[in-house]
Amino acid sequence: MVPRILLLGGTSEASALAKRLAARLAARIADHAGLDVVLSLAGRTEHPAPQPVPVRIGGFGGAAGLADYLKAERIAAVVDATHPYAARMSFNAAEACAAAGVPLLALRRGPWVPVAGDRWREVADVPAAVVALGDAPRRVFLALGRNEVRAFEAAPQHAYLVRSVDPVTPPLAVPDAEYVLGRGPFGEADDRALLEAHRIDTIVAKNSGGAATSGKMAAARALGIGVVLIERPAVPAVPAVETPAEAEAWLLDRLGAHGADSSAQEAEPSPSPGA
Ligand code: NAP
Repeated sequence: MVPRILLLGGTSEASALAKRLAARLAARIADHAGLDVVLSLAGRTEHPAPQPVPVRIGGFGGAAGLADYLKAERIAAVVDATHPYAARMSFNAAEACAAAGVPLLALRRGPWVPVAGDRWREVADVPAAVVALGDAPRRVFLALGRNEVRAFEAAPQHAYLVRSVDPVTPPLAVPDAEYVLGRGPFGEADDRALLEAHRIDTIVAKNSGGAATSGKMAAARALGIGVVLIERPAVPAVPAVETPAEAEAWLLDRLGAHGADSSAQEAEPSPSPGA
């Protein structure tokens, strides 16, 4: 039987891994031809980018629902390549895989780390970011999900520039807000031009890591703009890798030529640090 892999996605790394596995299937590479992949998306964007493997969209119904899905679909392994801030999904995956006896690997990009010139203020969550902006009016670039920006209605004294994949509807109930639609990757030069055109003095962002959205961080550094950076949430301590290539290698080791779990004696990747 062809082993089925569930790839929990919503990130560029998940898409890159899907592409690798699809290419492997298309080429029917000798020993590892028989992998079947389904990519799962939360359904946060209205028009998800096309994917090279079959896609399912929407929640599973918590950890119990996911465990049922794993059994019903006879999933042989799960790769959790969700966004670093999609912690609930990661905990659900850890619990469901443990309950169903299905191997789990996390594919997690590392966080950005500050370098000389960065002016970061790290805060615990979105409400703390609202408070961190202070009372004096600022010109703020919100590089957050459209579901997170509504919290800034509590601080209507600031002028906001909101960038999101889909429109923020209804618009924020604040007197001064502008909107720009866009799906990454975003380059440093374009982000610098955007920040300058809107006279931005503060950015609010998540520490997403990776290259696709780091342009604004480099632009902020170059322009001396402060960044209110929302800390990463804790994630479960499961075997983890940082690149799609490593995840592909784990899958091939794990599932082997004929889908057997051939890795019982193999060393696991290092557990993630848990944050
Ligand atoms: P979350 O809080 O971890 O997940 C909430 C619920 O959404 C999960 O319990 C699950 O529902 C469902 N879900 C999440 N990812 C899924 C997936 N890949 N396939 C199927 N169902 C999934 O994550 P979130 O609410 O999506 O986002 C939290 C943070 O991550 C936000 O800051 C957001 O901006 C950021 N983020 C998320 C994504 C994404 O694709 N999810 C992408 C970019 C950024 P059930 O419990 O019903 O299974």
